[in-house]
Amino acid sequence: MSVIETVLGKTVTTIFDKSREGRHGIPLPKLDVPAASTTLDSSLLREDKAKLPQLSEFDVIRHFTNLSNKNMSIDKNFYPLGSCTMKYNPKITERIAALEGFAAVHPHMVTNNMADNIQGTLETVDMLEKTLCEVTGMTAFTTTPQAGAHGEMLGIMMIEKYHESKGNKRKYIIVPDSSHGTNPATAAMVGYEVITIKSDANGAMDFDEFKAKMNDQVAAVMLTVPNTLGMYNKKIRDICDLAHSFDAMMYYDGANMNAIMGVARPGDIGFDVIHINVHKTFATPHGGGGPGSGPVGVNEKLKPFLPDLGIKKVDGKYEFTKGGEDTIGKISPFFGNYGISLRAIVYMTCLGENGMHNVSSKAVLNANYVRVRLREYFDVPFDGLCMHECVLSAKTLAKNGVTAMDIAKYLIDFGMHAPTVYFPLIVKEAIMIEPTETENKETLDIFCDRMIEAVKLAQRDPAAFQEYPKTLGVCRPDDTLAIKELNVRSTH
Ligand SMILES: *Cc1c(COP(=O)(O)O)cnc(C)c1O
Repeated sequence: MSVIETVLGKTVTTIFDKSREGRHGIPLPKLDVPAASTTLDSSLLREDKAKLPQLSEFDVIRHFTNLSNKNMSIDKNFYPLGSCTMKYNPKITERIAALEGFAAVHPHMVTNNMADNIQGTLETVDMLEKTLCEVTGMTAFTTTPQAGAHGEMLGIMMIEKYHESKGNKRKYIIVPDSSHGTNPATAAMVGYEVITIKSDANGAMDFDEFKAKMNDQVAAVMLTVPNTLGMYNKKIRDICDLAHSFDAMMYYDGANMNAIMGVARPGDIGFDVIHINVHKTFATPHGGGGPGSGPVGVNEKLKPFLPDLGIKKVDGKYEFTKGGEDTIGKISPFFGNYGISLRAIVYMTCLGENGMHNVSSKAVLNANYVRVRLREYFDVPFDGLCMHECVLSAKTLAKNGVTAMDIAKYLIDFGMHAPTVYFPLIVKEAIMIEPTETENKETLDIFCDRMIEAVKLAQRDPAAFQEYPKTLGVCRPDDTLAIKELNVRSTH
């Protein structure tokens, strides 16, 4: 029998280990229609029986409930993972997404391009597009991209088409060193060369260097706003103006809108294209790699290049539209991860304009509260008012041999997810904390107390860190090896 010997000495078996021949959950009535095997083409039939575990309903419920309890999740734990916006996902969004009219909809319910039986679904897509336009100040949105990075790729492909359509020869994309790693990766994927601009003493893109590097070979400037240091660039309008004077496009990485929504609008600032991560800012569930949704908004300049599949209302009824003559084509099947988009529009509708403003204000307040409480214990490389997250450095603990990773491992034992560590790359021993607006002061204080205790422990007994976390079956896995040789069935 294969067994995982794991957490706190308890033995955990897999669902296959628990399977017993002939055990089942629901007794099915006798088949009174022709068996699929008699009606399907034989080439479609499997040769061997499916290897499915055989268990009672109770076995299955207990198995998965116990497994789910092992998760470190936002519903159970403080989760200040910077850049990821692990805010609480209100349960009303889940309730609505589970309504049969939404949950049971299938893309192929639509025949001959007739959308008669999914009018309600399309209305929510329309609502989402219009609401995101309102929140960001853009002219049009598409909800089809399935993640932030997917949205970036769409945005840069549209920019490429824009320059082609104008006969502009462009080779470069400018990216500050404080941008999210997906930005230069996207630029390179689409075929551009990346020019990186360093950060100045305030953590903003160095304007003089930008000015020197900007020319008529640059296709776009991609800015993560606020940047990965959690800072807002005060020269943002000047950057837009200078880029536009060369007919370069301004790309807004809006994955982290949690300090901005309801406060400022990228379209009004001068950006031409933006992607949003609804699975961060707009409270849709995420983790473990998906599902996500990365809607992309454009202004009039880039509207002709929007991808295939949109909707419009004709005589009170929604119809599908293809992209225009200059469309970049299809980026995703149907409307992307619709269920995630749906949760986002429910969230926004519940909040309303004032609610969104309130969310942003509280997210900023919480991040600054943590920064100010911890600044005398940690190095704060850019110690000004931050936006929705703050970046500390554990480099002062290095003389005791304690690292950002040690602090992260230490926190786990107190039922907290660790903050993001070693990102952004431009900060040594970075600890990036994003508390989000949904945490109360008591929770923030407990977190800050633990962080301060960690610093004191580092001064008193640095070797103690090697034992953390003490409450998990696995203490310090070799991270590199774990990625290359994933083995989730044993303890070493
Ligand atoms: C998370 C994030 C992305 C990438 O989004 P995915 O949905 O993970 O592809 C891009 N930019 C920033 C600033 C982010 O925080």
